[in-house]
Amino acid sequence: MIEENVARIREAMAKAALAAGRRPEEIALCAATKMNDAEAVRRAIAAGVDCCGENRVQELLLKLPLHAYEGAPVHFIGNLQTNKVGKVVGRVDLIQSVDRPELLACIEKEAAKQNLIQNILIEVNVGGEASKSGFTTESARRMTDEFGKYPHIYLRGFMTIPPISLHPGDNRKFFAEMRRLYVDITAKRYDNVSMEYLSMGMSDDFEDAIAEGSTMVRVGTAIFGPRHYA
Ligand SMILES: *Cc1c(COP(=O)(O)O)cnc(C)c1O
Repeated sequence: MIEENVARIREAMAKAALAAGRRPEEIALCAATKMNDAEAVRRAIAAGVDCCGENRVQELLLKLPLHAYEGAPVHFIGNLQTNKVGKVVGRVDLIQSVDRPELLACIEKEAAKQNLIQNILIEVNVGGEASKSGFTTESARRMTDEFGKYPHIYLRGFMTIPPISLHPGDNRKFFAEMRRLYVDITAKRYDNVSMEYLSMGMSDDFEDAIAEGSTMVRVGTAIFGPRHYA
């Protein structure tokens, strides 16, 4: 099941890439593993996903000692409270969901304490939704200007979760806006900044995201099946 799903998604990803004149190898597949147990995560890795993305600190801390992520990098992709930063910094390869300035300051402090450099993505609230956290496109631009302030943080790109779309294709304009931000920042040279990831696209819209320049899609449901919320 998981194996067939990963194979099918890879095929669809490659098709979307080629249709956009891109190389399939440019786009990574991140398994969004929330609410799936260590065994399911291992199967996804064995099936060839490039990395895993965990949403909740508690789940991350539960699955790490079970060696759930062995063989693949693990990313944090969920809401991160400042009081949990100490449990995530140094334990994940990339924090994709840095959604506010105070979190940056907190990660800097913790990374300095642990004497390491933490890779992160800035999360952009591209749809400008009041219900969502994240930087505006403009504030994300401004943030990158100031990255020299955070010697223990390495900015590797941007992540976004666009609004829930009612019709297929609705989010392409948001993906395109992210692409412009990513391209603009890539063209500049900043300290502690190296653009590698434009993380956008989920189960329902990863093909559109790839058409608009995504370099990493985060897929949960299409790999693991529907999540059952208690
Ligand atoms: C759950 C989740 C995903 C994957 O969502 P699906 O629709 O199940 O593919 C991607 N990104 C984030 C941040 C998530 O929380």
